[in-house]
Amino acid sequence: MSDPAKLDRIVADARRAADQRGETYRDRALKIYPWICGRCAREFTRANLRELTVHHRDHNHDNNPVDGSNWELLCLYCHDNEHQRQLEAGGGGGGADAPKLATHSPFADLKAKLAGKQPKP
Ligand SMILES: [Zn+2]
Ligand SMILES: [Zn+2]
Repeated sequence: MSDPAKLDRIVADARRAADQRGETYRDRALKIYPWICGRCAREFTRANLRELTVHHRDHNHDNNPVDGSNWELLCLYCHDNEHQRQLEAGGGGGGADAPKLATHSPFADLKAKLAGKQPKP
């Protein structure tokens, strides 16, 4: 039996513990990921670390799993580009209206024709 309430509690506890340490998701991301931009592979040091940002893969800033699976470290430029791309991609909407394959089968027709046109003996 799984206990979703227990999982909620664990997540809440982890979040609270992080809050108590004054740790933001950015701090946490910088702890578990190497300081390298995920797009242009630019490396960062403490000196320029503020130019390295944490991107949310699903663009939901409230989605901060403790394992960091929703984060991606990007430099300011690549982060900008990433969001620009998302805006452009999301602007058109739709895209899920690919035409369904016709349910009508041309072979059914052919079969009927053949059936009505038996070869002469
Ligand atoms: Zn970059
Ligand atoms: Zn982002």
